[in-house]
Amino acid sequence: MALQKKKTPMRSQRPAERINNFSEVPYGYNQEEALREAERCLHCAKSPCITGCPVSVPIPQFIKALKEEGVAKANQILKSKNNLPAICGRVCPQESQCEKVCILGVKHEPVAIGRLERYVADQMLEQDEQATITMQDSGKERAALSGKRVAVVGSGPAGLTAAADLARAGFAVTIFEALHDTGGVLRYGIPEFRLPKKILDQEVDYIKQLGVEICVNAVIGRSITVDELFEQGYQAIFIGAGAGLPRFMNIPGEDLNGVYSANEFLTRVNLMKAYKFPQYKTPVKIGQTVVVVGAGNVAMDAARTAKRLGAEKVVIVYRRSEQEMPARDEEIEHAREEGIIFKLLNNPVALFGSDGRVTKMECIRMELGQEDDSGRRRPIPVEGSNWVMEVDTVIVAIGQSPNPLLTQNTARLATHSWGGIIVDQKQATSREGVFAGGDIVTGAATVIEAMGAGKKAAESIKEYLENKQGG
Ligand SMILES: Cc1cc2nc3c(=O)[nH]c(=O)nc-3n(C[C@H](O)[C@H](O)[C@H](O)COP(=O)(O)OP(=O)(O)OC[C@H]3O[C@@H](n4cnc5c(N)ncnc54)[C@H](O)[C@@H]3O)c2cc1C
Ligand code: SF4
Repeated sequence: MALQKKKTPMRSQRPAERINNFSEVPYGYNQEEALREAERCLHCAKSPCITGCPVSVPIPQFIKALKEEGVAKANQILKSKNNLPAICGRVCPQESQCEKVCILGVKHEPVAIGRLERYVADQMLEQDEQATITMQDSGKERAALSGKRVAVVGSGPAGLTAAADLARAGFAVTIFEALHDTGGVLRYGIPEFRLPKKILDQEVDYIKQLGVEICVNAVIGRSITVDELFEQGYQAIFIGAGAGLPRFMNIPGEDLNGVYSANEFLTRVNLMKAYKFPQYKTPVKIGQTVVVVGAGNVAMDAARTAKRLGAEKVVIVYRRSEQEMPARDEEIEHAREEGIIFKLLNNPVALFGSDGRVTKMECIRMELGQEDDSGRRRPIPVEGSNWVMEVDTVIVAIGQSPNPLLTQNTARLATHSWGGIIVDQKQATSREGVFAGGDIVTGAATVIEAMGAGKKAAESIKEYLENKQGG
Protein backbone atom coordinates (compact mmCIF):
# COMPACT_ATOMS: atom_id res chain seq x y z
CA MET A 1 0.00 0.00 0.00
CA ALA A 2 1.25 3.49 -0.84
CA LEU A 3 2.47 5.78 1.92
CA GLN A 4 -0.28 7.34 3.98
CA LYS A 5 -0.79 11.06 3.39
CA LYS A 6 -0.70 13.26 6.47
CA LYS A 7 -4.06 14.46 7.74
CA THR A 8 -5.02 18.06 7.17
CA PRO A 9 -4.62 19.75 10.56
CA MET A 10 -7.85 20.43 12.41
CA ARG A 11 -8.88 23.79 13.83
CA SER A 12 -7.52 23.87 17.34
CA GLN A 13 -6.35 26.14 20.15
CA ARG A 14 -3.13 27.95 19.26
CA PRO A 15 -0.06 26.36 20.90
CA ALA A 16 0.97 29.53 22.76
CA GLU A 17 -2.51 29.75 24.26
CA ARG A 18 -3.16 26.10 25.03
CA ILE A 19 0.00 25.48 27.06
CA ASN A 20 -1.59 27.72 29.68
CA ASN A 21 -4.83 25.77 30.05
CA PHE A 22 -6.25 22.24 30.16
CA SER A 23 -9.06 22.82 27.66
CA GLU A 24 -9.42 20.43 24.76
CA VAL A 25 -6.94 21.10 21.94
CA PRO A 26 -8.70 20.19 18.64
CA TYR A 27 -12.11 21.85 18.29
CA GLY A 28 -13.80 19.16 16.22
CA TYR A 29 -15.68 19.65 12.94
CA ASN A 30 -18.52 22.09 12.47
CA GLN A 31 -21.48 20.96 10.36
CA GLU A 32 -20.07 22.29 7.09
CA GLU A 33 -16.70 20.62 7.60
CA ALA A 34 -18.30 17.34 8.64
CA LEU A 35 -20.58 17.19 5.60
CA ARG A 36 -17.72 18.14 3.27
CA GLU A 37 -15.59 15.34 4.71
CA ALA A 38 -18.48 12.86 4.59
CA GLU A 39 -18.85 13.64 0.86
CA ARG A 40 -15.34 12.27 0.24
CA CYS A 41 -16.31 8.71 1.27
CA LEU A 42 -16.62 6.39 -1.75
CA HIS A 43 -18.85 3.86 0.07
CA CYS A 44 -16.61 1.12 -1.27
CA ALA A 45 -18.26 -2.27 -1.76
CA LYS A 46 -15.60 -4.14 0.22
CA SER A 47 -15.21 -1.38 2.85
CA PRO A 48 -11.71 -2.23 4.09
CA CYS A 49 -12.16 0.45 6.76
CA ILE A 50 -14.62 -1.82 8.61
CA THR A 51 -12.05 -4.60 8.74
CA GLY A 52 -9.53 -2.11 10.06
CA CYS A 53 -11.77 -1.31 13.04
CA PRO A 54 -11.41 -3.68 16.04
CA VAL A 55 -15.15 -3.37 16.82
CA SER A 56 -16.24 -3.43 13.13
CA VAL A 57 -18.11 -0.11 13.10
CA PRO A 58 -20.19 0.04 9.85
CA ILE A 59 -18.18 3.07 8.71
CA PRO A 60 -19.57 3.78 5.20
CA GLN A 61 -23.11 3.28 6.52
CA PHE A 62 -22.77 5.80 9.33
CA ILE A 63 -21.12 8.30 6.99
CA LYS A 64 -23.91 7.86 4.44
CA ALA A 65 -26.54 8.29 7.16
CA LEU A 66 -24.83 11.47 8.32
CA LYS A 67 -25.17 12.93 4.82
CA GLU A 68 -28.65 11.70 4.04
CA GLU A 69 -30.54 11.17 7.29
CA GLY A 70 -28.77 13.31 9.89
CA VAL A 71 -26.77 12.78 13.04
CA ALA A 72 -29.38 10.83 15.03
CA LYS A 73 -29.42 7.99 12.48
CA ALA A 74 -25.64 8.12 12.04
CA ASN A 75 -25.26 7.87 15.82
CA GLN A 76 -27.61 4.91 15.99
CA ILE A 77 -25.48 3.06 13.44
CA LEU A 78 -22.26 3.97 15.27
CA LYS A 79 -23.69 2.87 18.60
CA SER A 80 -24.76 -0.49 17.21
CA LYS A 81 -21.07 -1.46 17.43
CA ASN A 82 -19.32 1.17 19.51
CA ASN A 83 -20.62 2.10 22.96
CA LEU A 84 -18.12 4.96 23.39
CA PRO A 85 -17.93 6.86 20.06
CA ALA A 86 -17.18 10.31 21.50
CA ILE A 87 -14.15 8.79 23.24
CA CYS A 88 -12.95 6.72 20.28
CA GLY A 89 -13.33 9.69 17.93
CA ARG A 90 -10.80 11.48 20.13
CA VAL A 91 -8.25 8.88 21.22
CA CYS A 92 -8.21 5.98 18.74
CA PRO A 93 -5.05 5.62 16.65
CA GLN A 94 -7.11 5.76 13.44
CA GLU A 95 -3.98 6.20 11.33
CA SER A 96 -3.00 2.63 12.14
CA GLN A 97 -6.52 1.20 11.99
CA CYS A 98 -9.56 2.20 9.87
CA GLU A 99 -7.90 5.18 8.17
CA LYS A 100 -4.76 3.17 7.40
CA VAL A 101 -6.75 0.92 5.06
CA CYS A 102 -9.14 3.54 3.66
CA ILE A 103 -9.06 3.26 -0.14
CA LEU A 104 -8.69 7.02 -0.53
CA GLY A 105 -5.43 6.86 1.43
CA VAL A 106 -3.70 5.07 -1.44
CA LYS A 107 -3.44 8.26 -3.47
CA HIS A 108 -4.90 10.99 -1.30
CA GLU A 109 -5.69 11.73 2.31
CA PRO A 110 -7.89 8.99 3.85
CA VAL A 111 -11.40 9.91 4.99
CA ALA A 112 -11.09 11.42 8.50
CA ILE A 113 -13.23 8.65 10.01
CA GLY A 114 -12.29 9.46 13.61
CA ARG A 115 -13.18 13.12 13.26
CA LEU A 116 -16.55 12.23 11.72
CA GLU A 117 -17.19 9.78 14.55
CA ARG A 118 -16.41 12.51 17.08
CA TYR A 119 -18.66 14.97 15.23
CA VAL A 120 -21.66 12.64 15.27
CA ALA A 121 -21.19 11.63 18.91
CA ASP A 122 -20.62 15.22 20.07
CA GLN A 123 -23.70 16.47 18.26
CA MET A 124 -25.79 13.89 20.04
CA LEU A 125 -24.25 14.69 23.41
CA GLU A 126 -24.88 18.39 22.81
CA GLN A 127 -28.49 17.79 21.93
CA ASP A 128 -28.69 15.75 25.11
CA GLU A 129 -30.43 13.05 23.16
CA GLN A 130 -27.93 10.68 24.62
CA ALA A 131 -29.77 11.00 27.91
CA THR A 132 -32.93 9.70 26.30
CA ILE A 133 -31.94 6.34 24.95
CA THR A 134 -33.49 5.55 21.63
CA MET A 135 -36.10 2.86 21.44
CA GLN A 136 -33.59 0.64 19.73
CA ASP A 137 -31.24 0.80 22.71
CA SER A 138 -33.88 0.59 25.40
CA GLY A 139 -36.17 -2.16 26.63
CA LYS A 140 -37.97 -2.59 23.32
CA GLU A 141 -35.14 -4.32 21.51
CA ARG A 142 -33.45 -5.68 24.61
CA ALA A 143 -33.96 -9.35 25.18
CA ALA A 144 -36.45 -10.15 27.93
CA LEU A 145 -34.60 -9.89 31.23
CA SER A 146 -33.01 -13.25 31.74
CA GLY A 147 -32.77 -13.10 35.52
CA LYS A 148 -29.07 -13.93 35.17
CA ARG A 149 -26.46 -11.73 36.83
CA VAL A 150 -22.99 -10.87 35.54
CA ALA A 151 -20.22 -9.12 37.47
CA VAL A 152 -17.74 -6.94 35.58
CA VAL A 153 -14.43 -6.08 37.25
CA GLY A 154 -13.09 -2.67 36.21
CA SER A 155 -14.80 0.29 34.54
CA GLY A 156 -12.24 1.00 31.82
CA PRO A 157 -13.18 0.68 28.13
CA ALA A 158 -13.11 -3.15 28.28
CA GLY A 159 -15.43 -3.34 31.30
CA LEU A 160 -17.78 -0.59 30.11
CA THR A 161 -18.17 -2.23 26.70
CA ALA A 162 -18.76 -5.73 28.06
CA ALA A 163 -21.26 -4.33 30.58
CA ALA A 164 -23.20 -2.35 27.95
CA ASP A 165 -23.45 -5.27 25.54
CA LEU A 166 -24.53 -7.67 28.30
CA ALA A 167 -27.14 -5.24 29.63
CA ARG A 168 -28.53 -4.83 26.13
CA ALA A 169 -28.72 -8.60 25.86
CA GLY A 170 -30.94 -8.68 28.92
CA PHE A 171 -28.55 -9.57 31.77
CA ALA A 172 -28.38 -7.82 35.13
CA VAL A 173 -24.88 -6.35 35.19
CA THR A 174 -22.88 -4.83 38.05
CA ILE A 175 -19.50 -3.20 37.47
CA PHE A 176 -17.09 -3.32 40.43
CA GLU A 177 -14.51 -0.53 40.24
CA ALA A 178 -11.54 -0.21 42.62
CA LEU A 179 -11.29 3.58 42.36
CA HIS A 180 -13.84 6.14 43.50
CA ASP A 181 -14.84 6.97 39.93
CA THR A 182 -15.38 5.24 36.60
CA GLY A 183 -13.50 5.13 33.32
CA GLY A 184 -10.12 3.54 34.14
CA VAL A 185 -7.33 5.09 32.13
CA LEU A 186 -9.90 7.25 30.32
CA ARG A 187 -10.28 9.19 33.59
CA TYR A 188 -7.05 8.84 35.55
CA GLY A 189 -4.58 8.58 32.65
CA ILE A 190 -5.66 10.55 29.56
CA PRO A 191 -5.57 14.28 30.36
CA GLU A 192 -8.47 16.72 30.16
CA PHE A 193 -7.00 18.50 27.13
CA ARG A 194 -7.35 15.28 25.10
CA LEU A 195 -10.47 13.77 26.61
CA PRO A 196 -12.67 16.11 28.64
CA LYS A 197 -14.12 14.46 31.75
CA LYS A 198 -17.55 15.80 30.75
CA ILE A 199 -17.48 13.66 27.60
CA LEU A 200 -16.48 10.60 29.60
CA ASP A 201 -19.23 11.26 32.15
CA GLN A 202 -21.83 11.49 29.39
CA GLU A 203 -20.67 8.23 27.81
CA VAL A 204 -20.74 6.48 31.22
CA ASP A 205 -24.22 7.89 31.87
CA TYR A 206 -25.41 6.24 28.67
CA ILE A 207 -24.14 2.89 29.95
CA LYS A 208 -25.86 3.41 33.31
CA GLN A 209 -29.10 4.12 31.47
CA LEU A 210 -28.86 0.74 29.82
CA GLY A 211 -29.40 -0.60 33.34
CA VAL A 212 -25.80 -1.27 34.37
CA GLU A 213 -25.15 -0.79 38.10
CA ILE A 214 -21.78 0.61 39.13
CA CYS A 215 -20.24 -0.11 42.50
CA VAL A 216 -17.13 2.05 43.12
CA ASN A 217 -14.44 1.66 45.80
CA ALA A 218 -14.74 -2.12 45.40
CA VAL A 219 -11.37 -3.84 44.96
CA ILE A 220 -11.96 -7.36 43.71
CA GLY A 221 -9.37 -9.64 45.24
CA ARG A 222 -9.38 -7.55 48.41
CA SER A 223 -12.84 -6.20 49.44
CA ILE A 224 -14.58 -9.11 47.69
CA THR A 225 -13.03 -12.14 45.98
CA VAL A 226 -14.04 -13.75 42.69
CA ASP A 227 -15.32 -16.77 44.68
CA GLU A 228 -17.48 -14.48 46.81
CA LEU A 229 -18.96 -12.90 43.67
CA PHE A 230 -20.12 -16.37 42.56
CA GLU A 231 -21.46 -17.01 46.07
CA GLN A 232 -23.41 -13.75 45.84
CA GLY A 233 -25.24 -15.12 42.81
CA TYR A 234 -23.28 -13.78 39.84
CA GLN A 235 -23.26 -16.53 37.24
CA ALA A 236 -20.43 -15.17 35.11
CA ILE A 237 -17.61 -12.69 35.66
CA PHE A 238 -15.73 -10.49 33.20
CA ILE A 239 -12.33 -9.21 34.34
CA GLY A 240 -11.21 -5.96 32.69
CA ALA A 241 -8.82 -4.77 35.39
CA GLY A 242 -6.29 -3.17 33.01
CA ALA A 243 -2.53 -2.82 33.36
CA GLY A 244 -1.99 -0.19 36.01
CA LEU A 245 1.36 -1.24 37.42
CA PRO A 246 4.14 1.05 36.13
CA ARG A 247 7.45 -0.31 34.85
CA PHE A 248 10.69 1.35 35.92
CA MET A 249 14.10 1.63 34.27
CA ASN A 250 15.99 -0.06 37.14
CA ILE A 251 18.86 2.39 37.03
CA PRO A 252 20.73 3.97 39.97
CA GLY A 253 18.96 6.98 41.52
CA GLU A 254 15.44 6.03 40.41
CA ASP A 255 14.26 6.15 44.05
CA LEU A 256 15.13 9.87 44.42
CA ASN A 257 12.38 12.39 45.10
CA GLY A 258 11.20 14.07 41.93
CA VAL A 259 11.16 10.79 39.99
CA TYR A 260 7.60 9.77 39.16
CA SER A 261 6.05 7.01 37.15
CA ALA A 262 3.84 8.59 34.46
CA ASN A 263 0.99 6.67 36.01
CA GLU A 264 1.41 8.35 39.40
CA PHE A 265 2.03 11.76 37.84
CA LEU A 266 -1.04 11.67 35.59
CA THR A 267 -3.25 10.13 38.29
CA ARG A 268 -2.35 12.95 40.67
CA VAL A 269 -3.13 15.54 38.01
CA ASN A 270 -6.34 13.91 36.81
CA LEU A 271 -7.87 12.53 39.99
CA MET A 272 -6.65 15.29 42.31
CA LYS A 273 -7.69 17.84 39.72
CA ALA A 274 -4.43 19.69 39.24
CA TYR A 275 -5.82 20.49 35.81
CA LYS A 276 -8.27 22.79 37.57
CA PHE A 277 -5.52 24.85 39.18
CA PRO A 278 -5.54 27.25 40.95
CA GLN A 279 -8.88 26.21 42.54
CA TYR A 280 -7.41 22.80 43.42
CA LYS A 281 -3.98 22.77 45.05
CA THR A 282 -2.48 19.48 43.98
CA PRO A 283 0.93 18.53 45.33
CA VAL A 284 2.75 18.01 42.05
CA LYS A 285 6.03 19.87 42.32
CA ILE A 286 7.78 19.77 38.98
CA GLY A 287 10.33 22.61 38.85
CA GLN A 288 11.68 24.10 35.62
CA THR A 289 13.15 21.18 33.69
CA VAL A 290 11.15 18.00 33.29
CA VAL A 291 12.41 14.92 31.46
CA VAL A 292 9.94 12.30 30.30
CA VAL A 293 11.39 8.91 29.40
CA GLY A 294 9.51 7.07 26.61
CA ALA A 295 7.62 8.07 23.46
CA GLY A 296 4.18 6.47 23.62
CA ASN A 297 0.84 8.22 24.23
CA VAL A 298 1.52 8.09 27.96
CA ALA A 299 4.83 9.93 27.52
CA MET A 300 3.25 12.61 25.29
CA ASP A 301 0.46 13.09 27.83
CA ALA A 302 2.92 13.43 30.71
CA ALA A 303 5.13 15.87 28.78
CA ARG A 304 2.24 18.09 27.65
CA THR A 305 0.77 18.02 31.17
CA ALA A 306 4.11 19.09 32.69
CA LYS A 307 4.22 21.98 30.23
CA ARG A 308 0.74 23.08 31.30
CA LEU A 309 1.73 22.86 34.97
CA GLY A 310 4.41 25.47 34.27
CA ALA A 311 7.65 23.62 33.39
CA GLU A 312 9.86 25.85 31.23
CA LYS A 313 11.68 23.05 29.50
CA VAL A 314 10.19 19.61 28.85
CA VAL A 315 12.37 16.99 27.17
CA ILE A 316 11.33 13.59 25.86
CA VAL A 317 14.18 11.08 25.98
CA TYR A 318 13.63 8.00 23.82
CA ARG A 319 16.07 5.21 22.97
CA ARG A 320 14.89 4.64 19.39
CA SER A 321 14.26 7.04 16.49
CA GLU A 322 11.23 9.07 15.37
CA GLN A 323 10.03 6.26 13.14
CA GLU A 324 9.58 3.89 16.07
CA MET A 325 7.79 6.31 18.41
CA PRO A 326 4.57 4.49 19.40
CA ALA A 327 2.40 7.56 20.18
CA ARG A 328 -0.45 8.65 17.88
CA ASP A 329 0.76 10.98 15.11
CA GLU A 330 -1.48 13.77 16.33
CA GLU A 331 -0.09 13.62 19.89
CA ILE A 332 3.49 13.85 18.63
CA GLU A 333 2.57 16.76 16.37
CA HIS A 334 0.77 18.58 19.19
CA ALA A 335 3.67 17.98 21.58
CA ARG A 336 6.11 19.46 19.04
CA GLU A 337 3.87 22.49 18.48
CA GLU A 338 3.81 23.03 22.25
CA GLY A 339 7.59 23.22 22.39
CA ILE A 340 8.37 19.77 23.82
CA ILE A 341 12.01 18.92 22.98
CA PHE A 342 12.73 15.44 21.59
CA LYS A 343 16.09 13.82 22.42
CA LEU A 344 15.80 10.69 20.34
CA LEU A 345 18.31 7.82 20.24
CA ASN A 346 19.27 8.47 23.86
CA ASN A 347 18.76 6.34 26.97
CA PRO A 348 19.09 7.26 30.67
CA VAL A 349 21.73 5.23 32.56
CA ALA A 350 21.77 6.93 35.98
CA LEU A 351 20.10 9.66 38.04
CA PHE A 352 21.93 11.81 40.59
CA GLY A 353 20.53 13.95 43.37
CA SER A 354 21.17 16.36 46.15
CA ASP A 355 19.39 16.22 49.55
CA GLY A 356 17.40 13.26 48.31
CA ARG A 357 15.99 15.06 45.26
CA VAL A 358 16.91 14.35 41.65
CA THR A 359 19.14 17.00 40.02
CA LYS A 360 20.91 15.31 37.09
CA MET A 361 20.32 12.61 34.53
CA GLU A 362 23.11 10.75 32.76
CA CYS A 363 22.25 9.44 29.28
CA ILE A 364 24.06 7.43 26.65
CA ARG A 365 23.54 7.87 22.91
CA MET A 366 22.09 4.92 21.01
CA GLU A 367 22.18 3.64 17.44
CA LEU A 368 19.82 1.21 15.77
CA GLY A 369 20.88 -2.34 14.93
CA GLN A 370 18.97 -5.31 13.50
CA GLU A 371 15.23 -5.78 14.01
CA ASP A 372 14.23 -7.39 17.33
CA ASP A 373 11.21 -9.60 18.16
CA SER A 374 8.90 -6.57 18.05
CA GLY A 375 9.89 -5.94 14.41
CA ARG A 376 11.62 -2.69 15.34
CA ARG A 377 15.35 -2.06 15.04
CA ARG A 378 17.13 -2.80 18.31
CA PRO A 379 18.72 0.20 20.06
CA ILE A 380 22.42 -0.30 20.87
CA PRO A 381 24.42 1.98 23.22
CA VAL A 382 27.28 3.94 21.60
CA GLU A 383 30.25 3.33 23.87
CA GLY A 384 31.75 6.44 25.47
CA SER A 385 28.94 8.74 24.35
CA ASN A 386 27.56 9.48 27.85
CA TRP A 387 26.39 12.98 28.65
CA VAL A 388 24.66 14.65 31.59
CA MET A 389 21.76 17.12 31.84
CA GLU A 390 20.31 19.01 34.77
CA VAL A 391 16.76 18.02 35.71
CA ASP A 392 14.17 18.94 38.34
CA THR A 393 11.71 16.14 37.62
CA VAL A 394 11.90 12.82 35.80
CA ILE A 395 8.74 11.04 34.63
CA VAL A 396 9.14 7.41 33.60
CA ALA A 397 6.71 6.36 30.85
CA ILE A 398 8.12 3.08 29.57
CA GLY A 399 5.08 0.84 29.99
CA GLN A 400 2.73 -0.77 32.47
CA SER A 401 1.97 -4.35 33.58
CA PRO A 402 -1.15 -5.86 35.14
CA ASN A 403 -1.57 -5.24 38.85
CA PRO A 404 -1.19 -8.71 40.49
CA LEU A 405 -3.69 -8.10 43.31
CA LEU A 406 -6.66 -9.77 41.65
CA THR A 407 -4.83 -12.55 39.85
CA GLN A 408 -2.80 -13.58 42.91
CA ASN A 409 -5.92 -13.74 45.06
CA THR A 410 -7.97 -15.80 42.62
CA ALA A 411 -7.45 -19.56 42.70
CA ARG A 412 -7.03 -21.49 39.44
CA LEU A 413 -6.75 -18.37 37.25
CA ALA A 414 -3.90 -19.10 34.81
CA THR A 415 -1.57 -16.19 34.04
CA HIS A 416 1.50 -15.53 31.90
CA SER A 417 4.87 -15.01 33.62
CA TRP A 418 4.44 -11.25 33.09
CA GLY A 419 1.12 -11.26 34.96
CA GLY A 420 -1.42 -11.13 32.10
CA ILE A 421 -4.46 -13.42 32.32
CA ILE A 422 -4.43 -16.28 29.81
CA VAL A 423 -7.62 -16.54 27.72
CA ASP A 424 -8.79 -18.66 24.80
CA GLN A 425 -10.33 -17.47 21.50
CA LYS A 426 -13.56 -16.64 23.33
CA GLN A 427 -11.88 -14.60 26.09
CA ALA A 428 -12.57 -17.48 28.53
CA THR A 429 -10.01 -17.92 31.33
CA SER A 430 -8.93 -21.18 32.97
CA ARG A 431 -11.82 -20.80 35.46
CA GLU A 432 -15.30 -21.75 34.41
CA GLY A 433 -17.58 -18.74 34.11
CA VAL A 434 -14.70 -16.25 34.29
CA PHE A 435 -13.81 -14.25 31.16
CA ALA A 436 -11.23 -11.50 30.72
CA GLY A 437 -10.15 -8.86 28.20
CA GLY A 438 -8.34 -5.58 27.64
CA ASP A 439 -4.93 -4.63 28.99
CA ILE A 440 -5.04 -7.33 31.70
CA VAL A 441 -4.88 -9.89 28.88
CA THR A 442 -2.78 -8.17 26.21
CA GLY A 443 -0.59 -5.88 28.32
CA ALA A 444 -0.83 -2.11 27.71
CA ALA A 445 -2.58 -1.64 24.33
CA THR A 446 -5.34 0.67 23.06
CA VAL A 447 -8.83 1.78 24.02
CA ILE A 448 -10.45 0.21 20.98
CA GLU A 449 -8.62 -3.10 21.38
CA ALA A 450 -9.86 -3.24 24.99
CA MET A 451 -13.37 -2.48 23.73
CA GLY A 452 -13.07 -5.18 21.05
CA ALA A 453 -12.14 -7.71 23.73
CA GLY A 454 -15.03 -6.55 25.95
CA LYS A 455 -17.43 -7.07 23.04
CA LYS A 456 -16.15 -10.52 22.23
CA ALA A 457 -16.30 -11.54 25.89
CA ALA A 458 -19.90 -10.28 26.15
CA GLU A 459 -20.86 -12.53 23.21
CA SER A 460 -19.13 -15.51 24.82
CA ILE A 461 -20.74 -14.84 28.22
CA LYS A 462 -24.12 -14.66 26.55
CA GLU A 463 -23.52 -18.01 24.85
CA TYR A 464 -22.16 -19.52 28.09
CA LEU A 465 -25.16 -18.43 30.18
CA GLU A 466 -27.68 -19.44 27.55
CA ASN A 467 -26.17 -22.94 27.44
CA LYS A 468 -25.70 -23.26 31.18
CA GLN A 469 -27.99 -25.91 32.67
CA GLY A 470 -30.21 -24.73 35.49
CA GLY A 471 -28.46 -21.34 35.59
C1 LIG B 1 -1.81 8.12 29.91
C2 LIG B 1 -2.37 7.15 28.92
C3 LIG B 1 -2.73 7.59 27.66
C4 LIG B 1 -3.27 6.71 26.73
N1 LIG B 1 -3.66 7.18 25.52
C5 LIG B 1 -4.28 6.37 24.65
C6 LIG B 1 -4.77 6.86 23.41
O1 LIG B 1 -4.63 8.03 23.08
N2 LIG B 1 -5.41 5.99 22.58
C7 LIG B 1 -5.59 4.69 22.92
O2 LIG B 1 -6.23 3.97 22.16
N3 LIG B 1 -5.11 4.18 24.07
C8 LIG B 1 -4.47 4.99 24.95
N4 LIG B 1 -3.99 4.48 26.13
C9 LIG B 1 -4.16 3.05 26.42
C10 LIG B 1 -5.60 2.75 26.84
O3 LIG B 1 -6.08 3.75 27.70
C11 LIG B 1 -5.70 1.38 27.50
O4 LIG B 1 -5.24 0.42 26.59
C12 LIG B 1 -7.15 1.07 27.89
O5 LIG B 1 -7.66 2.01 28.79
C13 LIG B 1 -7.26 -0.33 28.50
O6 LIG B 1 -8.58 -0.52 28.89
P1 LIG B 1 -8.95 -1.57 30.04
O7 LIG B 1 -10.42 -1.47 30.21
O8 LIG B 1 -8.34 -2.88 29.73
O9 LIG B 1 -8.19 -1.05 31.35
P2 LIG B 1 -8.18 0.31 32.16
O10 LIG B 1 -8.56 1.47 31.35
O11 LIG B 1 -6.86 0.33 32.83
O12 LIG B 1 -9.31 0.10 33.25
C14 LIG B 1 -9.17 -0.89 34.24
C15 LIG B 1 -10.04 -0.52 35.43
O13 LIG B 1 -10.06 -1.61 36.35
C16 LIG B 1 -9.93 -1.12 37.66
N5 LIG B 1 -9.37 -2.19 38.50
C17 LIG B 1 -8.11 -2.67 38.49
N6 LIG B 1 -7.98 -3.66 39.38
C18 LIG B 1 -9.21 -3.81 39.95
C19 LIG B 1 -9.70 -4.67 40.96
N7 LIG B 1 -8.92 -5.58 41.55
N8 LIG B 1 -11.00 -4.53 41.34
C20 LIG B 1 -11.81 -3.61 40.75
N9 LIG B 1 -11.38 -2.77 39.79
C21 LIG B 1 -10.10 -2.88 39.39
C22 LIG B 1 -9.00 0.08 37.51
O14 LIG B 1 -9.12 0.97 38.60
C23 LIG B 1 -9.51 0.68 36.21
O15 LIG B 1 -10.54 1.60 36.43
C24 LIG B 1 -3.41 5.34 27.07
C25 LIG B 1 -2.99 4.87 28.32
C26 LIG B 1 -2.48 5.76 29.24
C27 LIG B 1 -2.05 5.23 30.59
S1 SF4 C 1 -12.44 2.70 2.74
FE1 SF4 C 1 -12.54 4.97 2.98
S2 SF4 C 1 -13.64 5.64 1.15
FE2 SF4 C 1 -14.03 3.43 1.30
S3 SF4 C 1 -15.93 3.21 2.50
FE3 SF4 C 1 -14.27 3.17 3.99
S4 SF4 C 1 -14.02 5.32 4.63
FE4 SF4 C 1 -15.23 5.37 2.73
